[in-house]
Amino acid sequence: ITSKLPSVGTTIFTTMSQLALEHKAINLGQGFPDFNPDPALIEAVHQAMLGGLNQYPAMAGYLPLRNAIASKTQSRYGRRYDVETEITVTSGATEALMASFQAFVHPGDEVIVIEPFYDLYIPAIELAGGIPVAVPMTPPSEAVPYYRVDWDRVESAISSKTRMLVINFPHNPTCTILRAEDLDALEQIVEKHPLIILSDEVYEHLTFDQREHLSLATRPSLAERAVIVSSFGKTFHATGWKVGYCCAPAKLSAEIRKIHQYTVFTVPSPLQAGLATYMQEPATWESLSSFYQEKRDHLHQGLQHTRFKPMPSEGTFFLLASYDNISDLPELDFAKYLNQHYGVGAIPVSAFYLNPHSEQANHRLLRFCFAKQPSTLDQAIERLKKV
Ligand code: PMP
Ligand code: GLN
Repeated sequence: ITSKLPSVGTTIFTTMSQLALEHKAINLGQGFPDFNPDPALIEAVHQAMLGGLNQYPAMAGYLPLRNAIASKTQSRYGRRYDVETEITVTSGATEALMASFQAFVHPGDEVIVIEPFYDLYIPAIELAGGIPVAVPMTPPSEAVPYYRVDWDRVESAISSKTRMLVINFPHNPTCTILRAEDLDALEQIVEKHPLIILSDEVYEHLTFDQREHLSLATRPSLAERAVIVSSFGKTFHATGWKVGYCCAPAKLSAEIRKIHQYTVFTVPSPLQAGLATYMQEPATWESLSSFYQEKRDHLHQGLQHTRFKPMPSEGTFFLLASYDNISDLPELDFAKYLNQHYGVGAIPVSAFYLNPHSEQANHRLLRFCFAKQPSTLDQAIERLKKV
């Protein structure tokens, strides 16, 4: 057969998780919590099943869950999305992203992605016949100590073929969040260029140091052309449930739903019903930042007692750490070495680049996930002290 995705292999997340299993390593690679969701959420799902919610829910999502998403989005970001036409519950953020690329990217269209980027975007663009155009982020400097988007470079990358711009904040893997000036710059760009913006906001509730996530939903001129994607897996410690959603203007949502209804049709009803009940209490997501900030600080401080150099993390449940005074190995080789010889799994940041083997992708950085119990983080830190 002729492969439609000849260059796609196994994802870095699966590869590193398998290696961690093989070597009995502590897995701080693939992003998932090593603890359970709140028992109240599990109980709400259980009750939904006992109560008979076991058949197909509505194609666009169980209505009480869409209502809960609408209320949350309004209270946090000030935009009211219409539950009938603008909110779609999907099989994880993954499906919302894939459906968006399938719905809007035509063969030959260019799609701008900000490099480094989450691995799904490139194969999804290529499957739709699109051409990814990568715009590199500007690395931290003394003047600006975090990765940031150079919006002038984004604008220069726009051509008559550009259909879509993909952004992802809080950003996996650099852990940067959006600032008001980023949204200002983006508003100026879309005023001149009629792009669709695909905004992957799966870490919307994981921002630290009193910094708020600035959703594109907060700016009408951006929200009018944006598909905003989120994930209950990240928010409620249930990555294995694969429930996410997207909010987009009715015209865009209608196209996404055409794909959704023939990919999965809908998403498990008891999970949706449980989430709807659980979301009645805003405290469930309002406490997440402080919960994860403690974990970030735990790992950050622990790494300061090792030869790794942790970098600031403004959001997500990851942090980057440099090993530049430990080894010269390229990132993938060093991540494997760490796994095998010291029993700690991490993700090479080079995997988030178009060409992972290029020098430009190898800055001797690993991504560590801190969505772990304190004892797991302590054990990992003890092992990393030996490196
Ligand atoms: N986008 C980003 C940036 C992610 O990091 C992830 C998963 N870790 C996803 C999308 C996929 O989310 P889900 O598991 O809800 O499909
Ligand atoms: N998004 C997760 C991460 O960045 C991985 C999800 C997956 O394995 N597909 O670690």
